Amino acid sequence: MTMDNDARDGLRQHYEAVLSRLEKGLGIAGRKREEVLLLAVSKFQPADAVAALAAMGQMDFGENYVQEALEKRHELDNADLTLASKLRWHMIGHVQSRKASQTAGNFCLIHTLDSVKLASAMEKHLCQLDAVQKVLIEVNVGDEDQKTGLAREDLHALADHVQSSCPHLSLQGLMCIPPVYDAGEEARPYFALLRKLCEELRLHTGLALPELSMGMSGDFEWAIAEGATIVRVGTDIFGPRPHK
Ligand SMILES: *Cc1c(COP(=O)(O)O)cnc(C)c1O
Repeated sequence: MTMDNDARDGLRQHYEAVLSRLEKGLGIAGRKREEVLLLAVSKFQPADAVAALAAMGQMDFGENYVQEALEKRHELDNADLTLASKLRWHMIGHVQSRKASQTAGNFCLIHTLDSVKLASAMEKHLCQLDAVQKVLIEVNVGDEDQKTGLAREDLHALADHVQSSCPHLSLQGLMCIPPVYDAGEEARPYFALLRKLCEELRLHTGLALPELSMGMSGDFEWAIAEGATIVRVGTDIFGPRPHK
């Protein structure tokens, strides 16, 4: 389970290019490096690519499918437990309610809470585990019909449900995937909208809600300019995703 040297050099170059874009974006926004977490999105990427990136110092990884994430982690544990134990895994894909028990308690942050049903299913499982799970609510900022994420108008109701009925869920903020992909500045109004929704939700709930998860390979500088605290970058670090 090792990458050849050429592949590793390519990965390092991509990773360094993303880190320098990050620094530049932070500079323009007048923000500090520690204010923004870079999440390496490793969906469909093999465990050896994750291990190679971790050896370069990247510790936070995002996965979209719970089964794939758990299998990859298992493989990494077997390969190098010391390194694997330092990694922090984030769930950034849509979670079906029937997968709630596999997901809740298994990630340092779940970015994609999007329904009362899912919140209740996670709460039930976490109660049995006696564990608290940090979550973000995913908002459908483009009001797209076929998209995952919660409709804006339902945001306060879901937050109320979490506050009143889900003591094992710790709400940390909001996440979005804009309706425009790889479009740079065109995504910016959606990032601004998520920031505004988060400010309103802070007032509504009285919670700190420190996290805004927004920005991907094609637009993360614009997300940083609008206050992102977590950017999720896949393609520009790992290269194109292998097909599943
Ligand atoms: C795949 C994915 C990403 C990464 O997208 P890239 O364009 O490859 O950087 C970020 N966030 C979510 C939710 C994703 O599904």
